[in-house]
Amino acid sequence: MKPLEEKPWDTQPWLDKHKKPFLEIRGVTKKFGDFTAVNNVSLEIYKSELFCLLGGSGCGKTTLLRVLAGFETPTEGKIFIDGVDVTELPPYERPVNMMFQSYAIFPHMSVEKNIAYGLKRERLPKAEIRSRVEDVLELVQMSPFAKRKPHQLSGGQQQRVALARALVKQPKILLLDEPLAALDRNLREETQFELMNIQDKLGITFIVVTHDQKEAMTLSTRIAVMNKGQFVEIGTPTDIYEYPQSRFTANFIGSINIFEGVVKEDRLDSHVVRCEDTECDLLIDRDSSIHAGESVWVAIRPEKINVSKEEPADHHFNTVRGKILDFGYLGNLSVYNVELDSGKIVKASAPNRNRISKHRVDWDDIVYLSWEAANTVVLSG
Ligand code: ATP
Repeated sequence: MKPLEEKPWDTQPWLDKHKKPFLEIRGVTKKFGDFTAVNNVSLEIYKSELFCLLGGSGCGKTTLLRVLAGFETPTEGKIFIDGVDVTELPPYERPVNMMFQSYAIFPHMSVEKNIAYGLKRERLPKAEIRSRVEDVLELVQMSPFAKRKPHQLSGGQQQRVALARALVKQPKILLLDEPLAALDRNLREETQFELMNIQDKLGITFIVVTHDQKEAMTLSTRIAVMNKGQFVEIGTPTDIYEYPQSRFTANFIGSINIFEGVVKEDRLDSHVVRCEDTECDLLIDRDSSIHAGESVWVAIRPEKINVSKEEPADHHFNTVRGKILDFGYLGNLSVYNVELDSGKIVKASAPNRNRISKHRVDWDDIVYLSWEAANTVVLSG
């Protein structure tokens, strides 16, 4: 299957003010009776992005995807694809295809017939149908299974048939609702990479709905974190993980420690924060949005914290003492729950670079946790 168009090689088009978005969602709201499932969201997605809508159950991800596909009409707002207002267009007139949560492949049809189905309905010439089906079967590595029926396939293979069926129509945008949900963990991880490769080869814009944060982190160019029908934050996986702006995002993606405090001093390149939970003050990198006297939330990821039984030499800032409350050996890393004198529990983790015959720490051991100012992040609320 040939790429639909030349790939734009700029990897972060959203940073280029002159780049036009491919899909524009402008102030879209979707209500079901009195209930607002999607609440006034706006978003611009660029050509060839693999964009993830990420959020917990019921936050409105699928509803937004269905609005984009044309299966739901927005109560308010507009949708533009490639500069054209498609808000009132029915699904079959949009350059969009959707791969559903349940793969919805026909059980009585062979793999190739399932894939050809949509093209036959369009009454395309037989030769073109055959060639497009062959191309797409090759792309998803299912050519040897063309004659099989769905019940003769594994879950992963069925998923590929569903993907092939959506791709064969050559949409400009492919919407995928939890595409990997039915696969077991190992297959899921493998398939994530396949999906990325296929997307990369074709250059089609993919919009993926998922509630799985790791999947979103692996797949995406950018992620929109959703809560209660709204976007909480939009950014690259690194932005969202390393520099979350809100407590919701920080807690939703991975594990994080949050210290509440008051900025005591503004320095040239840092701030000093007084926090009731820690004996020493916290030092954070300078952030132009905060000033002395303000209340802040300082966050630090567990893997950025150093755990030591020895008291660090320079322990003026960002060093707390506590007791090991719990620890877990996860094979590749160990995780620790450390209770400070104030009662606050801090999570830390460390990679097990060497095979360990004996745990480095034990329950009730006193340890020192320390971290760099550059690894903290200040959350807005
Ligand atoms: P999940 O991950 O569980 O699929 P989601 O984020 O995709 O969740 P949606 O399916 O978009 O959530 O649903 C958002 C909210 O809108 C839910 O509270 C749901 O009950 C409600 N909802 C969705 N479709 C309808 C409908 N047709 N009529 C009434 N309420 C609906």
